[in-house]
Amino acid sequence: MLWKCSVCGLVFEGDSAPQNCPKCGAPKEKFNALTEEEAKKIYMSDRTNDIHMKLTDLAMKIIKLAEEGIEINLDPPCVALFKQAKDEAWIIKQRSKAEIAGHVSRGKW
Ligand SMILES: [Zn+2]
Repeated sequence: MLWKCSVCGLVFEGDSAPQNCPKCGAPKEKFNALTEEEAKKIYMSDRTNDIHMKLTDLAMKIIKLAEEGIEINLDPPCVALFKQAKDEAWIIKQRSKAEIAGHVSRGKW
């Protein structure tokens, strides 16, 4: 069963709500049980949200590598390629962040 803190939004999994919210410390009474439909959305989106976060992490690694390549400045075509990779990785990152934001606004997180 899932319980949501009405103060900070933390979702807790358990047979009953926690004595205090692990995030904001609010007492048990501040937790509301989620409906089956609400819980289903959260469980179904859990993995995809993790994948989006992983993609943003990988995109940050691409950006850092590309910046290193730009810094080395071997020759113009090489630098151009790294700049392109950096721009593309930024788009991957922002696209996944926007998707996560959309999920959160629809209770899928
Ligand atoms: Zn809380």
